[in-house]
Amino acid sequence: MSIVRFVNVSKEYMLGEQKVRALKDINLEIEEGVFLAIAGPSGSGKSTILNLIGCIDTPSSGNIYINGQDVSGKTPDELSDLRARTIGFIFQTFNLFPVLSAEENVEYPLLQFKDISTKERRERTVKFLDIVGLAKFAHHRPNQLSGGQRQRVAIARALATHPKIILADEPTANLDHKTGEGILQLMKEINRREQTTFIFSTHDARVMAMADQLIHIEDGELIASEITK
Ligand code: ADP
Ligand code: ADP
Repeated sequence: MSIVRFVNVSKEYMLGEQKVRALKDINLEIEEGVFLAIAGPSGSGKSTILNLIGCIDTPSSGNIYINGQDVSGKTPDELSDLRARTIGFIFQTFNLFPVLSAEENVEYPLLQFKDISTKERRERTVKFLDIVGLAKFAHHRPNQLSGGQRQRVAIARALATHPKIILADEPTANLDHKTGEGILQLMKEINRREQTTFIFSTHDARVMAMADQLIHIEDGELIASEITK
């Protein structure tokens, strides 16, 4: 089964009186467990695709299926529930809470789940900080960590809810070459081990080279989708 399916998806934004066509008739299937890169110039629609998959935006027309569920017709509450249980987000600017420690940042999203006990929450926090190599930095705040370490915290936070899909908007954009490479290797390792689907946008040729599936979009249109591995 595909973890993500787009059927004739279009997205328009209103910019004052003007209509902006961000995506035009996108058809797309993403298999569970892939490491998928979305490539395209700035303004081509990459973030819009990620926002649609992440259920933080809805299509103007067409249907989107996430983990087999048609998202159209769902209420905002149902969408936020689907998002919380299915999706993890990683941003190019990391988006950590500056006043919380690494550990508290990872633990924070777990607080919304009433079915996760305090013990389970603590265990997951420790486990995922360890997986990203930051056990020793648990009590550091973001401003006491390097860019690469901050992105590792963000990855641990995204993983802690056991999502099926991790969405990453240009995850290496604010990292130097070597650090970015380390972050990618880590994401790939987790992808292989946990079978978590990774979907990320990028301008970075190295990132594209590591992908199992590469999607090219230009001016809101899907130009190519190739399975590379
Ligand atoms: P990137 O090219 O790195 O993806 P963008 O500047 O295109 O960054 O977009 C960053 C965020 O701002 C996206 O989430 C997008 O939805 C939003 N955004 C982009 N363009 C506009 C716009 N013209 N008006 C309002 N929001 C926008
Ligand atoms: P990318 O991520 O590839 O840079 P985006 O998905 O952010 O591209 O944007 C695609 C197009 O949609 C751009 O023309 C952008 O300006 C426009 N856009 C994105 N988000 C918004 C928004 N919230 N309001 C208006 N226009 C937007």
